[in-house]
Amino acid sequence: MKVLKFGGTSVGTVESINQVIQIIKENLDEGRKIAVVYSAMGGVTNRLIEIGKMASQSDSEYLEQLKTVEERHFNAIRGLIDIKNQSGAIAKVKGLFNELEDLLRGVYLIKELSLRTLDLIVSFGERLSTIVITETLKNRGIDAEFLDARKVVKTNDVFGYADVNFELTNELIRKHFAQTNKLQCITGFIGSTIDGVTTTLGRGGSDYSGSIFGAALNAAVIEIWTDVNGMMTADPRKVKNAFTIPTITYAEAMELSHFGAKVIYPPSLTPAFYKSIPIRVLNTFNHKHPGTFISKTAETKEYSITGISSIDDIALVNLQGGGMIGVAGISAKLFSILAKNKISVILISQASSEHSICFAVDPKSAYGVKEILEEGFATEISQGLLDNISIEQNLSVLAVVGEGMKSSSGISGKLFSVLGKNGINVVATAQGSSELNISVVIYKKDIGKALNAIHETFFQVDGLTLNLFLVGATGLIGSTLLRQIREQRDYLKSRKNLNIRLVGITNTRKMLLEEGGISLENWKEELLENGEIANIGSFVSDVQDLNMPYSVFVDCTADKNIVQYYYSLLSASVSIVTPNKVANSGKFDQYFMLQKAAQKHGVKFLYETNVGAGLPIINTLQGLITSGDKIHSIEAVLSGTLAYIFNNFKAGDRFVDVVREAKAKGYTEPDPRDDLSGQDVARKILILSRECGLKLEPDDVKIINLLNDACLQAKTVDEFFVELEKDNERFERLLADAEAKDEVLRYIATLDDDKVTIELKTVGRKHPFFNLAGSENIVSFTTERYKHNPLVIKGPGAGAEVTASGVFADIMSISSYLV
Ligand code: ADP
Ligand code: ASP
Ligand code: MG
Repeated sequence: MKVLKFGGTSVGTVESINQVIQIIKENLDEGRKIAVVYSAMGGVTNRLIEIGKMASQSDSEYLEQLKTVEERHFNAIRGLIDIKNQSGAIAKVKGLFNELEDLLRGVYLIKELSLRTLDLIVSFGERLSTIVITETLKNRGIDAEFLDARKVVKTNDVFGYADVNFELTNELIRKHFAQTNKLQCITGFIGSTIDGVTTTLGRGGSDYSGSIFGAALNAAVIEIWTDVNGMMTADPRKVKNAFTIPTITYAEAMELSHFGAKVIYPPSLTPAFYKSIPIRVLNTFNHKHPGTFISKTAETKEYSITGISSIDDIALVNLQGGGMIGVAGISAKLFSILAKNKISVILISQASSEHSICFAVDPKSAYGVKEILEEGFATEISQGLLDNISIEQNLSVLAVVGEGMKSSSGISGKLFSVLGKNGINVVATAQGSSELNISVVIYKKDIGKALNAIHETFFQVDGLTLNLFLVGATGLIGSTLLRQIREQRDYLKSRKNLNIRLVGITNTRKMLLEEGGISLENWKEELLENGEIANIGSFVSDVQDLNMPYSVFVDCTADKNIVQYYYSLLSASVSIVTPNKVANSGKFDQYFMLQKAAQKHGVKFLYETNVGAGLPIINTLQGLITSGDKIHSIEAVLSGTLAYIFNNFKAGDRFVDVVREAKAKGYTEPDPRDDLSGQDVARKILILSRECGLKLEPDDVKIINLLNDACLQAKTVDEFFVELEKDNERFERLLADAEAKDEVLRYIATLDDDKVTIELKTVGRKHPFFNLAGSENIVSFTTERYKHNPLVIKGPGAGAEVTASGVFADIMSISSYLV
């Protein structure tokens, strides 16, 4: 004997019922003895509840709603049974709808809907679907018989969640089956009291019915047929990469379903467990798929956990107060009050200080629970032993489940680290003593992100994915970066199991966000064709609202305005990578605040390319400092432009011509004074000084001007060149003096003795800065460890290719921190 149960979606349409019938036929053709339990057509139970409520609220539209439900059943009959034979089924269904209409009329008139009446109303859902299918089977030549489960499933009178009287039920089921050989088509979900009053077994309870019949009949297996390929590692609607768990124990399945895996109703596992009857969870729409096999043991899995589930909407009730410490009575009393009032508790957590205890309940019952407890603990509250009972809403709970947790350590560490790195706050946590689950309460807004991040980390189905949001996509650095990522994509996937998903891009004109990812090949066309008008404010809020795990915001602009959003991005747990210097070289408070925000929210704020493009200057400096070295001084040539100019300024040249040539070759800003003024160098050395822990403001950088006032004040670039020409002699003299000493001119930024200066200096052959080619940058760190022989970093300090690769390296460093 085998019991099959088909859920709401499996019996929801003509096509799906045809699938169901095919599965039944295959079983019969193979000579198997089976009994079949059905749910109401998908959505009908909810509909009936709404209709009942409408009627009780004097909303006469309930009748129209009822008609649509009726039509749905008639349509099913029309689609399933040939026209000559429909009348019998139609008459039966019509009879039930007449009965239901009378019942609802009563509710409408007395304006009252008790739980008892509601159970009767919803029972029509299963009765109707089962009649339609039974009639269809008979029409197709199968000797089927309708069995109203109320005849045999006997319960108490807790309407909505009735408890089954197994002794009686088992006996009645066995008796019934003993006197028939027909294929039994059974209504799921419903039962009745000894007095014959209709009851229901709880939402989703048809699974339970399947299990009750399976256990009573000593079935070899109970099959739960649904719309997914078995029990999966997470709810596939929430986690795209979820996959089927081939075998699982009753206990694990129980934990997963208790914490929200709707695919099986938790109580269903108990009757099967006691009789050691395995349960298979199968897909009606993919019926060759092996699905999930639930039994006492499960094969060893390659992952440390079995699955993750969640209840999206819970409330937390908090009991706290000095009076709880060491007083065993309070928790005992709490649990007895909860039990007496049949309050179903999802999770309990007690702080080890015993100062507080909190538990999660369905949010709909939270305020009722508060009242009940305030009444129950009135004396303790009035004596000040307990504070007032508080309720926190908008929370979710997620549970990580698996037998493997018993044998492997570090799972909770990993779990909390994933949550931390994604800025997900843990409000409460509980670990079952069976070590089968760890559950955490988090804010509801974070649930999708948390499930995906945890799933990705523990199962690594498709590797880890960084979600990238790029501002300045069409700029030189932005587009070079995208090209580099595209070229490196296969390597990252095959060697690092890492994906970079480009979720958002924007330039000054257009912006585009695609949760599934934007093509790295056609992003330009996609931006142009599908992009909306750019608005950085709404781009940023979209990034935050999407709330995707492992989000990285890359700012490849030099824009002042974007920086104002950094703080809120970091606070929303989005990492930032940028070559944009504005944020770090403005007011110290801003720099400091961003550092703190990144730390606090467990994300990264990386800006290696702020200084020296792709050269590892900031990383090296941070490495020295965090490993305990002391920075004595820093000397640096940090402007590629100025390096180029002074490298090419040789005896016999006119300084003005060298500057003109640099400009013509595109090595300077459009106005060369932006480079020659030393402002850009000042920003870079300021950033390095701050990395050393100095609290310096932009004004603290002393720039000894290269240019005279006339040059600086000239109104146009042309006028500037005229003034520079007049000043030629001074530069030539500087050069001649240097050469006389066998030295060269270098524009050097120095941090020494907590002071920052930028000036034109001469250096001799022994100085590391003597040999500089082209537009190379160079930095020399004199530290406690590198005292006599400074640590020097030298190389190309400008250019799209190297800057983009520096940005890329920062992005990669985030990924290694995450895994
Ligand atoms: P039925 O109507 O067949 O009883 P349900 O809607 O009650 O089906 O349950 C099946 C649904 O459960 C799936 O469509 C899926 O979205 C959801 N679900 C939640 N968690 C899981 C999980 N871990 N594995 C499979 N399905 C899950
Ligand atoms: N029809 C009932 C419900 O929707 C029972 C079930 O589908 O399992 O809750
Ligand atoms: Mg179900």
